Amino acid sequence: MEQAGWILDEEQWKAWAGSLPASGCRVIAPARGPRGEAAFTKTDDADQIARGYPGKTQMSPKEFLFPRSETLFEFRLAGNTVTLVRPPRSDNKQVLIGLRPCDAAGLRRLDEVFLQDPADEAYEHRRNQTVVIVEACTEATPSCFCTAVGGSPGGTEGADLHVTRLGGSGRILLRAITQTGSELASAASASWARATEADFAEAGDQAEAVSSSIRRQPLPARTPELLEGSFEAPEWEVVASACIGCGICTYACPSCSCFDIADTGGAACGSRCRSWDSCAFGEFTKHASGHNPRPKQSARYRQRLMHKFAYFPSQHAGQLMCVGCGRCIDLCPAGIDIHQAVLALAGAARAAHRGADEGVPV
Ligand code: SF4
Ligand code: SF4
Repeated sequence: MEQAGWILDEEQWKAWAGSLPASGCRVIAPARGPRGEAAFTKTDDADQIARGYPGKTQMSPKEFLFPRSETLFEFRLAGNTVTLVRPPRSDNKQVLIGLRPCDAAGLRRLDEVFLQDPADEAYEHRRNQTVVIVEACTEATPSCFCTAVGGSPGGTEGADLHVTRLGGSGRILLRAITQTGSELASAASASWARATEADFAEAGDQAEAVSSSIRRQPLPARTPELLEGSFEAPEWEVVASACIGCGICTYACPSCSCFDIADTGGAACGSRCRSWDSCAFGEFTKHASGHNPRPKQSARYRQRLMHKFAYFPSQHAGQLMCVGCGRCIDLCPAGIDIHQAVLALAGAARAAHRGADEGVPV
């Protein structure tokens, strides 16, 4: 679709964004927690909905599409008949406001997993009700590396609407990226000033400036292939030796999608529940026999990294499963840096190839 954009001042933005709950939308926006950290929260507060925030939230917004825990259905047995009852689902729109570009790209990775054929019914319903409003980054934090994995601080992947706060001018560029976004804005947009080419160019320059401030190195070409060839490399022990298997990297990640299924209740009635799980946990791959094909923590960490940087891209036209948000770097209690780990493994694999090509023992 042709790019539509408007320039709003702070009051217009607040009036529009703050009006969404009254129009029946469930609005999720970043709010300040007790320790000052920003966290995505359901809110009706217009001030909170319209306010920007520095950096990124501690946890990603994925729980609003893929809840930490949810009942998929309840089952009841009467005579020989089993009845499945799905929980009631809201048909109200859910508007996610203020996602960073990496967050919205992370949701697109979840789509790749949950909207496969056949789509996951609970996820698909929620996804169809959701509108994503991305807010371009005005600064990068030290752990950000979206530019190393194909993203951008001004990126629009996964966005329906896209907001750029232009400099310190108080002007906000609001762009419709999809038809869904355009429709959400349509009732109010007639009263907004149309954005000009100069406004779009200013937003582009701003994103470029934030991009340039990211100091982290791009990943080498053919990283997925290099990693695939490094499965047995001793470097895995080195990069993963500190991992304690806490799993916070996977819970905070916008694109990690592993879950566990548990049935509760008895023979006559009960429910099936889906909850987040983590490949970092020792029990994750443990068989009923007691055998565990990933008995060591280094093998579990390797799985996480390989899934994101080798296996997923091999099944999704080269698309990485990591969007470079850096949350796992910020939160890892063992100080493991996934970006540095990939560089180390890919670098070692490349050196090994080079050595093999030159006939040097590796
Ligand atoms: S693996 Fe880490 S850096 Fe990559 S998307 Fe997940 S949390 Fe962000
Ligand atoms: S956050 Fe760090 S220690 Fe915890 S599971 Fe992830 S890599 Fe391991």
